Amino acid sequence: MPRLTSAEAARARSRLLGWFRRHARKLPWRQAKSSYAIWLSEVMLQQTQIPTVIPYYLRFLAEFPSAAQLAAAPLERVLELWSGLGYYRRARNLHLAARLMADEHDGNFPRDFDEARRLPGVGDYTARAVLSIAYKEPYAVLDGNVARVMARLSARRGSLPEPRFRRAIEDHLDRLLSRRSPGNFNQALMELGQTICLPRSPECPRCPLRRWCRAYALGKPESYPQPRPRRQAEKWHLATAVIHRNHRFLLARGLDDGLLDGLWNFPSALGKSRSKALARLSEKLRAAAGIPIAFGEPCQKLHHSITYRSIQAEVYVAELPERLRAKGCRWFAAGKIEQAAVSQLARKVLHQLAREGPKVRPQRLPGAS
Ligand code: SF4
Repeated sequence: MPRLTSAEAARARSRLLGWFRRHARKLPWRQAKSSYAIWLSEVMLQQTQIPTVIPYYLRFLAEFPSAAQLAAAPLERVLELWSGLGYYRRARNLHLAARLMADEHDGNFPRDFDEARRLPGVGDYTARAVLSIAYKEPYAVLDGNVARVMARLSARRGSLPEPRFRRAIEDHLDRLLSRRSPGNFNQALMELGQTICLPRSPECPRCPLRRWCRAYALGKPESYPQPRPRRQAEKWHLATAVIHRNHRFLLARGLDDGLLDGLWNFPSALGKSRSKALARLSEKLRAAAGIPIAFGEPCQKLHHSITYRSIQAEVYVAELPERLRAKGCRWFAAGKIEQAAVSQLARKVLHQLAREGPKVRPQRLPGAS
């Protein structure tokens, strides 16, 4: 595949940066001056869509305008503000990294690449993105959008997990990178991938790089690169108990296997079948509360996904005549649940129950002291 000459690369770069100056979307983190705010946006944008991130980013910055303020906050509050954004390990790492930034880097994201990589949750991609945007360090960033644009520019087949493909794309990207404005260059390529060089229907007539694009010249640019092999979704069943008394609900920390760790959920258990999930839920509640609980028919059903797990959840509503204490659980007043660090799954259950109500009469459980 012929490479761009230096002169062609310079023209393509300048065209791309000019297009970005004129057409960049106005996103709140693009006005950010501090390395802390830029880092925050990069962490939130991992695996999450821009429209979802915007309100979270604004709320977070309003409450924690600096790394020191984030570091000083209790983890519980950080998780509350993160609640609904998913991939909660990011929030825990964010909190740990803010402490290191506050203690060892004057509240800034480190300028040195190796120091940056030592922060919890900061991988190559995040380090490169923040260093290039906040400090104009000449690092190129490679995400799925950038890889697609670069693969099309050079009409290269393959997918990012293949080392050969990745090396070729990185090499091409490095030659194209603007040393003067690496942050804008990186954001411009991502913007192009998100708004014009779309996976299935690239809008080539609007593209500032069309003149240098081999895939466009060859026709069928959408056939580059090859689709990335996806991890097969796994089917799971989940049994969830909505246990309530006097407008208070019993919530438990986390789910199985470290999932939703640190977040509040309705007591739940996963299983490969409906009956296994239900048996595990009963077992868990017996271990936590010391009373045997047998559930009847589910009141609600809903679907939920956690990473690659496709989960069919069945909700059992039970009313308790007396107060129950259970290890790892806490009673929440109905009106306080939404503000707590609850999982997206728990919110879904709550909203569905509020909307539709239980479809069968809630079961009354035996009380416990
Ligand atoms: S010309 Fe089309 S395929 Fe090539 S980079 Fe631009 S939008 Fe993508």
